Amino acid sequence: MLDIRDLLVNYGTIRAVRGIGFNLAKGELVSLLGANGAGKSTTLKCIAGALKASGGSITLDGTNITSASPEQVVRAGLATVPETRDVFPDLTVSENLMLGAYIHRRDRAGNRDNLERVHNLFPRLAEREGQAAGTLSGGEQQMLVIARALMSRPSVLLLDEPSLGLAPAIVERIFEMIETLKRTGLTILLVEQNVNQTLAVADRAYIMRLGKIVASGTANEIRSTTDLSAHYLGG
Ligand code: ATP
Repeated sequence: MLDIRDLLVNYGTIRAVRGIGFNLAKGELVSLLGANGAGKSTTLKCIAGALKASGGSITLDGTNITSASPEQVVRAGLATVPETRDVFPDLTVSENLMLGAYIHRRDRAGNRDNLERVHNLFPRLAEREGQAAGTLSGGEQQMLVIARALMSRPSVLLLDEPSLGLAPAIVERIFEMIETLKRTGLTILLVEQNVNQTLAVADRAYIMRLGKIVASGTANEIRSTTDLSAHYLGG
């Protein structure tokens, strides 16, 4: 479904991503793990079209999207939830959601159906549809940005650290929701620092360190064979 080969991403002279490759089959939940600065967010931004690759290829369901713009990537069926969790604070929950449906703006009936589906997945957002997004709690804002991404009707969803800075009970709910999304057939790439919870929901994982992939395998293999603390603490 998503195939990354020999990807290189530079910021000027800084080589943030140094020739990585990984893939996701349809319906898989794959995690990208690694310490701060490993290059995970850079990888996601490049797949999303927000950063230019200096080399390599990104293929989505057979279509080469390596040089695609962010809008073209969304139109190709890939939505990204960045770690910045930015909602439009003065717009209501509903207005924020409809902005996610921008590429389908002429398909009103389709958007209505999809909004109902998203409300069923996130009943809390349905209850708060008229509330200004800036007044939602941190966990609710995280749900809103995920729900907004779903309004583009993606086949692949990239999530950058959705649990960042949230209380443990909310983190639990976010992970439950990710599992629910997987059950709907969505293909998901999850970047996380929360290793144990991530490996509990992921099918497979890749571990990045200093711009390279240093380990990969099923969640069980990663748990049993990789010295996670060494990769996480940079040892
Ligand atoms: P984190 O979990 O802290 O977000 P990460 O694995 O996502 O870490 P990146 O944010 O992708 O890592 O950063 C990879 C490397 O690229 C780091 O060395 C970082 O300092 C560098 N980097 C990131 N953004 C920029 C930028 N805009 N300009 C220059 N260097 C950058």
